[in-house]
Amino acid sequence: MSSPVLRSRNVLKRNSMRFAAALLAALASFVAGPNVALAAAPQHHDQVPGFYRLKVGDLEVTALFDGPGVFDSHWLNGTKATMDGVVKALHEDPHMLDAVDTGYLVNTGKHLILVDAGSGTWYGGGKLGHLAGNLRSAGYTPEEVDIVVVTHLHSDHIGGLTTQDGKRVFPNAEVYVAKPENDFWLSPEIAAKAPKDAQPFFQSAQAIAEPYIKAGKWHTFSGSEPIVDGMQIVPLHGHTPGHTGYEFSSMGQTILFWGDTINVQRVQLQHPEVTNIFDIDPTAAAATGNQLLSKLAHEDVLIAGPHMLFPGLGRLHKEGSGYSWAPVAFTDQWDEK
Ligand SMILES: [Zn+2]
Repeated sequence: MSSPVLRSRNVLKRNSMRFAAALLAALASFVAGPNVALAAAPQHHDQVPGFYRLKVGDLEVTALFDGPGVFDSHWLNGTKATMDGVVKALHEDPHMLDAVDTGYLVNTGKHLILVDAGSGTWYGGGKLGHLAGNLRSAGYTPEEVDIVVVTHLHSDHIGGLTTQDGKRVFPNAEVYVAKPENDFWLSPEIAAKAPKDAQPFFQSAQAIAEPYIKAGKWHTFSGSEPIVDGMQIVPLHGHTPGHTGYEFSSMGQTILFWGDTINVQRVQLQHPEVTNIFDIDPTAAAATGNQLLSKLAHEDVLIAGPHMLFPGLGRLHKEGSGYSWAPVAFTDQWDEK
């Protein structure tokens, strides 16, 4: 045991040594600058892989990012008052029309089902087309996909199926599409009469479908007969002639893949009556959307929206005269029961 006097002397000695060390460090930084010991951290220009997984009952659902996009305000149709409001809001917030393109993989345990395939190289001027790469990052290969269901035949939903030189990206997949959709976009007669602006949609749909048709892997459905157990076909007429949602249920949980029900979430959730120039029957599209959104806001249904901000998984709630979107919270505990 040391005496109190000795202890206090030691404390004094320690304190003066600390003071001297601090003084030296301060002098050194004064001479050489404050960050001399730290190399500048390089910035990184890559991102986490573009996939997001969650469980819906026993189903494993993986959102696959295809790429970013921005909707053009001129593509929206609404009342003058609504559109004036959108244009004004856009001045204050240039990110209002941000959108993305996403496809979804459903692993049922029996089947590996892709719901929409992104744009590939058929749409988006080179900014899109990352779905197949992100599918690999998520631990799968395109060869493992045995079923593809598509919500409609616009190139931002089927472009990822086929390369520009006509090769099937998912060589083992059977592709399913609603018959009215198939009969419209793949009809040479309808294509010939279509306005010039619409021609590229017909041409790309035909080129993308062709290798699957030739291989006997392109199928249409007319009724509501499910393609696999646990799946329901949900006709969502209006955007295109056979626009279709797919609902999967497992162990009391449900997820709906709603295609292009909403293209621009920050405008259309507040104004569900706003349609876009790609809606082939805008009146029907608005009616279908209104009915569906109202129903979903009263149900605990998880929604997967290809153009909702990634991963485009969330739920709807009523808010004022429109709806609010409650995105799923990020978690790495998705496999826990
Ligand atoms: Zn779309």
